Amino acid sequence: MKKYKQTIKQEFFVVGFSSALIIAFVFILLASVSIYLLSMDNAQKKLEMANLHISTYTNGVLESLVMSTKTNAAFPGAMDYEPGYSEAKEKLLQLFMATTQANPNIKFSFAGYEDGTLLIEGYDPPVGFDSRLRPWYSSAVERYPGLSIGLPYQDAKTLEWLVSVSLAMVDQQGVLKGVMAVDCSLEYINSIMSEVSYYDSQMNYVLDENRVVFSHNNRSYLHQSIDTVVPGLSEKFSEDSGFIRYKIDGKEILAFYHRLHEADWIIVSAIDASEVLGPIVMTVSYIMLTLVLLAIILGIGQVKVYEKSFVKPITALRDHISDITSGQKVRRLEQPYIYSNNELANIAGKIEEMAETSLRKKNDELRLILDATSDGILVLDLEGNVIHTNEKYSNFKNHLLKIQVDKPYTQEQLCRREETIEVLHLNGEMVLEQYTCPVFNNCELKGQLWRYRDITEKFRAEEDLKWLATTDPLTGLWNRRYFLERGGIEVNAMNRTGLPLSLLYIDIDFFKNINDRFGHRFGDEVLIYIGMTLKSQVRNMDVVARLGGEEFCVLAPNTSLQSANQLAEKLRRFFETNVYQYKDKKVHFTISVGVTTYTDGIGSIEDLLVAADTACYLAKNQGRNSVVSTDMFR
Ligand code: GH3
Ligand code: MG
Ligand code: MG
Repeated sequence: MKKYKQTIKQEFFVVGFSSALIIAFVFILLASVSIYLLSMDNAQKKLEMANLHISTYTNGVLESLVMSTKTNAAFPGAMDYEPGYSEAKEKLLQLFMATTQANPNIKFSFAGYEDGTLLIEGYDPPVGFDSRLRPWYSSAVERYPGLSIGLPYQDAKTLEWLVSVSLAMVDQQGVLKGVMAVDCSLEYINSIMSEVSYYDSQMNYVLDENRVVFSHNNRSYLHQSIDTVVPGLSEKFSEDSGFIRYKIDGKEILAFYHRLHEADWIIVSAIDASEVLGPIVMTVSYIMLTLVLLAIILGIGQVKVYEKSFVKPITALRDHISDITSGQKVRRLEQPYIYSNNELANIAGKIEEMAETSLRKKNDELRLILDATSDGILVLDLEGNVIHTNEKYSNFKNHLLKIQVDKPYTQEQLCRREETIEVLHLNGEMVLEQYTCPVFNNCELKGQLWRYRDITEKFRAEEDLKWLATTDPLTGLWNRRYFLERGGIEVNAMNRTGLPLSLLYIDIDFFKNINDRFGHRFGDEVLIYIGMTLKSQVRNMDVVARLGGEEFCVLAPNTSLQSANQLAEKLRRFFETNVYQYKDKKVHFTISVGVTTYTDGIGSIEDLLVAADTACYLAKNQGRNSVVSTDMFR
């Protein structure tokens, strides 16, 4: 299976966080743009307001100067004033005084005449003063019949900067008589310029008709052409009013300008753009920070929701399904886990159903297989709960219960890790082979399997076969095969222990005659009787066998030659003194016995047998009904 590095939780986190971040980014963008636009709009409005205020103020000042000039020029006798005519002079001077008193904007009210004289109150013109050479004079003449308004010029004596409004006086015949003028201190205009300041960086300044700066908060720019300070700026003042942007000393400047009605002056209000942008950047930064934090919180929140709604139910479903399929939990839980929505609950339900159906199918198949076997099968988990069983086991169960005390299976048996095989004898009537093996799942011990097989028939057949192989069927004594096998074991034991081993070889005398007289069947009965007699006369540990025909052997371990002779003699005398009766037939017979004893541990059972046989042969030769012993190994 492919290995996936990312968990659902991690994926949800990436999606949740990045979507929240994208939303935050869009919000920041929109917020930044709108804040920028709003702030710029606000700044522009403030600038425009400030500028309008100053312009209106300045315009009002100029208007009042124009009014005063016009009024004075229209005064009777103003035009026809002749020097030396003192009454007229007196009146005019009184007019000038009244004008300056009525209009506080006016510094001096005065008139110049074609003869070069100057009519003024409270001012002594310097030597050689000629009105006709003064700027306000020539400017008025130039502009006649209009007025010269707002001409900046320097006082001839003090060199103080002033602003003048002047009007040429021309008689009916068109002869120039003089110029009527008022002036205003430039300081006053300057004070107006610094009157309104909404921003720290705000500068208000005035350009005259030649676009020369003549009033400015910063005196270093005074009396310079604006194009010298900022090349090409004058061209931007193309409308009556408007916003402009320019750069000065590398700083971005935002400005509003306004052209006055009265004079060809342009009043400019300028601020550093950074003073507007600074707060915008700050505000946007705060918003950005807040939104990013919000995005993180939102991302984490989303992950939590997804985790609760999807990840937890899905992992719970996975665990539940694996429990079902591993057989730990077939039964469905009432409310295994909380589903956040109906769809998920439906899907989970269907998957569980599928898992259970396929498991049930598998179980049915398994049941078929289990029931088809002739063995009894039982599988228990570690707690002893039944996992699998089949019909055959139920048949054995009642028999098994008879030999199982308390619990059918002990905890030790349930936790065994090795296979075992055991044969159980159930009340002598049934023999079962019990095979057990541990059940593992992924190397983990899950329980134990028992398999019971009925081996009664097989067991009995084996027993029979064993009996047949070792027993003489007529007398029930051991046969020759078993005798030799057992004899070998006893010879080995003798070799180990050094204890004497004796053998009696018994042959019936004239047995042929018994058969001949009473029949073969009767002869068999006699043989059975001899076998029983021999068994009853020897010790339990002695091995009595019928080697064939009417020849018998007694193998006596731990028996000396002398003891063996005594036993042989006892047997010989028994038959000599007893009569065997079967029904109405009586028979008396004797035996010949050859005895030999093994004492020094060399040779085999066959050697011993040959020696005893030889001794028996000698006994026959001696006339029968006798015992001959041999000690041929000494
Ligand atoms: P003796 O040993 O004294 O020399 O004479 P005997 O007549 O006993 O001779 P032998 O030992 O050679 O006898 C063998 C006889 O035993 C032959 C046979 O008729 C009889 N015999 C052998 N096996 C059986 C048997 O299984 N049943 C019966 N009824 N007779 C058997
Ligand atoms: Mg014989
Ligand atoms: Mg014989």
